[in-house]
Amino acid sequence: MIISMRSHSSKEEIEHVCDRIREFGYKVHTIVGEERVVIGAVGVGDVTACLESLQAIPAVESAVRISAPYKFVSKEFKKERSRIRLNGVEIGGGEFVVMAGPCSVESEKQIMETAQAVAAAGAKILRGGAFKPRTSPYDFQGLELEGLKLLAKAREATGLAIITEVMSDRDVGMVAEYADVMQVGARNMQNFALLKTLGKCGRAVLLKRGMSSTLNELLMSAEYITAHGNPNVVLCERGIRTFETATRNTCDISSIPVLNELTHLPVVLDPSHATGKRSLVPALSRAGVAIGADGLLVEVHPAPEKALSDGAQSLDFNQFRCMMDDLRPYLELRNPAPAVKRD
Ligand code: PEP
Ligand code: MN
Repeated sequence: MIISMRSHSSKEEIEHVCDRIREFGYKVHTIVGEERVVIGAVGVGDVTACLESLQAIPAVESAVRISAPYKFVSKEFKKERSRIRLNGVEIGGGEFVVMAGPCSVESEKQIMETAQAVAAAGAKILRGGAFKPRTSPYDFQGLELEGLKLLAKAREATGLAIITEVMSDRDVGMVAEYADVMQVGARNMQNFALLKTLGKCGRAVLLKRGMSSTLNELLMSAEYITAHGNPNVVLCERGIRTFETATRNTCDISSIPVLNELTHLPVVLDPSHATGKRSLVPALSRAGVAIGADGLLVEVHPAPEKALSDGAQSLDFNQFRCMMDDLRPYLELRNPAPAVKRD
């Protein structure tokens, strides 16, 4: 923290501020200028409480923190990029991992057919919501436990890992029995009781950015999960609310390189919720490859016009296969294959 005293503060006022800083556990370094004194506070303590206390002292002109408010998720804490290992898949390890499937698990036929189709097209993880956060209480709320069982069946049949949303800390144990990756939806990014429980769930977590959340807030939510014992967190950009109405959300594509600068955690892109429009999903997916995302979370449905949720943004099987084929050359550009050895 850097604390700037008002000009011509008295010796007593400066000493009072230094005492207060020490009470919070910090060491104090004072720089005396012509007009004002600047105090540097270093060490470990309750930085939020300390700043708030100092900002309430009249002789203090400003008190600001200089280090990031998150620790475990920062690049300073861990230089190398995190690799999240699931059964047979690694997110953040160089391979571009595609997670695909319906918005909601609707029936055995729907999820089994989708699992086969997305696996054949190259997806490594099957998505599907069993607990659905819906704006209207009258909309389809998900099959819950039955949906989880269907996902497990699809994993058995295809070998795909499973990602599915958990909406409440009460359901964490149940969902963890079936899921390989626990998805935290945009609406729950700051459900701190849920985040704390996920710290102890023994499964990887995919944390979606809240629709009105800053990247700092996203990283602080990831910090909750890691600080409570679970380092296996993947971040997901899924678009944010802006004044633009042409797309369902506005894809903050620059969040991916920004996050890659700030954190060692893998970052994936959800082009489906970011746009709300099936026709825009392939273009955004290419952007995700080009800009350094570690993978995609894409909605795919056997018959989008019959989907119980998010049909307009879901690709059908053929569209998904075409998109995956189209992405291949871009992926090769990103990870050039070793040059062929000539004699
Ligand atoms: C979803 O993935 O189906 C979903 C509800 O996403 P979000 O939380 O990003 O709206
Ligand atoms: Mn959806």
